[in-house]
Amino acid sequence: MPHYSARSAARLNACHPDIRKIFETVIAHFDHTILCGHRGREQQDKAFRTRRTKVQYPDSKHNSLPSLAVDAAPYPVNWNDRERFHLFAGFVLGTARAMGVDLRWGGDWDQDTEVADNGFDDLPHFELNLEKDT
Ligand SMILES: [Zn+2]
Repeated sequence: MPHYSARSAARLNACHPDIRKIFETVIAHFDHTILCGHRGREQQDKAFRTRRTKVQYPDSKHNSLPSLAVDAAPYPVNWNDRERFHLFAGFVLGTARAMGVDLRWGGDWDQDTEVADNGFDDLPHFELNLEKDT
């Protein structure tokens, strides 16, 4: 059964309990690595400069502590294999939904289940959707 490396586990531990709950279930079935949990100002600035994110500190959901977002990739990581990222995201989103958590994926920001209309792909990114509350 797949399990987290110490580095992945430490990154996930900086995330919101709902995110931890989801990914700790997913790891038992679909091997993946946690690329990023919480990002401080320096790391957010770097991510912005390298265009891995569109938002600046402190507006990313990665910037809060615990982090309201996580970046995860199927393992072994192959950035050219988009289909595997999509398969992984489907597994993650299904797991989250079964747990009653509204999780938004960077491959479908508007959550309409269509991926062709996604303006900015951030395929490893998952975040809690708190906007629909209230
Ligand atoms: Zn992210």
